[in-house]
Amino acid sequence: NYSDEKFQVLMKEMKSLTETAGGIPTVEMTQKLPRLNSRSAVGSGKLSEIKDAVNKEEIDLVISMNALTPSTNRYIEDQLGVRVIDRIQLILDIFAMRAKSREGKLQVELAQYDYLLPRLQGRRDYLSRLGGGIGTRGPGETKLETDRRHIRTMMSQIKKELAKLSEHRELTRSRRRSGSEFNIGLVGYTNAGKSTILRELTESDTYVEDQLFATLDPLTRKLTINGHDGFTLTDTVGFIEELPTTLIQAFKSTLEEMRYVDLLLHVVDASSADRMMHEQTVYNLIKELEMDHLPILTVYNKKDKIEGNFEPTLFPYVTISALEKDGVEALKQKIWAEIVRTSEKFEVEVD
Ligand code: GDP
Repeated sequence: NYSDEKFQVLMKEMKSLTETAGGIPTVEMTQKLPRLNSRSAVGSGKLSEIKDAVNKEEIDLVISMNALTPSTNRYIEDQLGVRVIDRIQLILDIFAMRAKSREGKLQVELAQYDYLLPRLQGRRDYLSRLGGGIGTRGPGETKLETDRRHIRTMMSQIKKELAKLSEHRELTRSRRRSGSEFNIGLVGYTNAGKSTILRELTESDTYVEDQLFATLDPLTRKLTINGHDGFTLTDTVGFIEELPTTLIQAFKSTLEEMRYVDLLLHVVDASSADRMMHEQTVYNLIKELEMDHLPILTVYNKKDKIEGNFEPTLFPYVTISALEKDGVEALKQKIWAEIVRTSEKFEVEVD
């Protein structure tokens, strides 16, 4: 159903997501069909082409861009003799890696169980030993082999615990609000350079240890600007194209810490040909996550790779190259200006 352009973007993103999950994209195969083959998604000729590639390149894992029904998933696995997952499982796997808070982990686990429940039946044992890593983080294969009833019990326990945690969150939130920290969140399309910027801005490997942040994602770090500390910077999982609605809740919870930020840095790969599409994706999700009331500073990154004229589309903005440490100080000063602008509201002491 995708336009060719959108399809290319999604394929590129699949590669990047695969790398994020620790895989090495090796072979890419596509097929255009008026509708999916009901048994094997792709046609039978294409399936045997895939099988040849799997054997020739010693592929451990096949990832489908289309969502696969449980029976199609099983059928393809049987035919290929390797583990097969779809894009949704890949994304859940990345969420499982990134979720740090108890609530985040539980939300992701719930989504994984929900996804896996209809896939339990007839799952072959040998598959659990193949293609380890991607698609196996989280609940894990041994638990998958236990029966459905057991999984349903665990799901209802998770839901109960989540309800309790949400009560507790109301308490810690009011505590955190009274603090004087100024919290900054990094958002952006996957691969835009968020982690690189986090490292450049904070210059240290020390994670935030403050008690108040004990439950926060360890990707939160302290930030010092103009000799003042008490600021924090938090990295997020990259924003993803076409996030299925069933994953929004799990995604929200991996962004739990974002609820407390005072400023969003929207990191954009300024050198990407798909830049505007990426910007749109991120903006849609910012809205969906009800964070669009926050001040946003756009950071056009990878200045060193820009070819030809560059016309920014989002304001206010700053253009930098995190890799070449070019413009990082200017970025800090823009952040500082924002802190000063909102200092009364947040009771940050500035001279
Ligand atoms: P994230 O997914 O947003 O956290 O992105 P990363 O920080 O992991 O960066 C993705 C890739 O872009 C890495 O290979 C970085 O080395 C590279 N990168 C980051 N910043 C720059 C930059 O300013 N210029 C160039 N050329 N590459 C960059």
